[in-house]
Amino acid sequence: MLRIVNVIPGSKASELGFEKGDIILSINGQLVNDVTDYIVLRDAREVWEILNSRDKSVYEIEIERDNNFGLEFSEPKWHRCTNNCVFCFVDQNPPELRKTVYFKDEDFRLSYLTGSYITLSNISKRSWERIVSGLFSPLYISIHSLNSNTRQKLLGCHEKIDIRDKLIQLKECGINFHAQIVVVPGYNDGDDLKETLEACAEFYPNLCSISVIPVGLTCHRKHLVDIKPVDQKTAKRIIMYLRKTGEDNIRRFGKRIIFPSDEMFLIAGEKIPGRHFYEDFPQLENGVGLISDFMNSKKPAGEFQALFLTGKSFEPYLKDYLSKVKGALVLSVRNKTFGDSVNVAGLLTGKDIMDFLIKIKPEKTVYIPDICLNDDYEFLDNIKLVDIEKKLNISIKAIDKVTLDRLFS
Ligand code: SF4
Repeated sequence: MLRIVNVIPGSKASELGFEKGDIILSINGQLVNDVTDYIVLRDAREVWEILNSRDKSVYEIEIERDNNFGLEFSEPKWHRCTNNCVFCFVDQNPPELRKTVYFKDEDFRLSYLTGSYITLSNISKRSWERIVSGLFSPLYISIHSLNSNTRQKLLGCHEKIDIRDKLIQLKECGINFHAQIVVVPGYNDGDDLKETLEACAEFYPNLCSISVIPVGLTCHRKHLVDIKPVDQKTAKRIIMYLRKTGEDNIRRFGKRIIFPSDEMFLIAGEKIPGRHFYEDFPQLENGVGLISDFMNSKKPAGEFQALFLTGKSFEPYLKDYLSKVKGALVLSVRNKTFGDSVNVAGLLTGKDIMDFLIKIKPEKTVYIPDICLNDDYEFLDNIKLVDIEKKLNISIKAIDKVTLDRLFS
């Protein structure tokens, strides 16, 4: 049952007579539990069963909806994670960041809608029934290890959860999924990783891709389990193994399926592979192939006076990309908020950027990656972009790759 909380005046929904308080009971005979069902049940021809809030009658109506249909619903209550992963990044966040970064979600609906990873370790019977109904495919699943002892230690759960059994069921129900393995030295970086990846072959082709990512550690690990970072030697060994397994997969299944993350290549000090390596870039959002994708386009040339800021790990690539642009200066900002081991652009905070700019006193327009801001142009530490501009009396523009390319066209 999905209650309509607002009908936009003048919209198609309003013309059809919908009113606030009406309830959508089903779409094409399928029960509507919440707004995520409303999204996934979209079809060319839809028959809705409606409970009229005024006279309590139930009626059917045929609907053709577009993106601006005009109905609004409340956001579902997302399920919280009940794990206690030894490597959890949320536990390593500094205080006083944007409220949302402290929320540990574990919700198959978010996994489907936004690509966030779930462990399936505390899934309710009802949620599992909704998953196996097949509406939510593909999902994004944190496997980490198929050895239930190792997985239990990594997830900090009280009981062992047989993820293999769940993955078999997903395959049987025809549900596709992408997987990630966060490598934590001493837990799942050796034979465990090999065994897990070998055993994963049984889930192909429903298991569409696997990313292998080094554990992310910040400087805020006081009172947490002691964890070592993935070092260069380990990263090299893992990449060598993943390349070999990926090539075996290409021979057997026609697809690589297994990908080291960009971060793994950076730690190993190895050249980032070309575009073809990443096939259709199945895990771009998870930091797999981002650099390769970025470097794929033709380098711009000409003159453009500006300062481009980024994280330390991306600095050499952005410098290379802008190497033919006279007047374009590329600098990296040190991440003092999370610590030096965190060097991606997306985790730069307003304070770190502001302190950096105060020190270097730029005279040109400053460009920063838009991924360190939310839709309201606020950094992770709640500092607004406009406030930095006002305070330093400079112009700062947030850009993505498309906007960056447009600067030179
Ligand atoms: S699943 Fe683990 S890593 Fe993810 S939010 Fe929960 S505790 Fe953190």
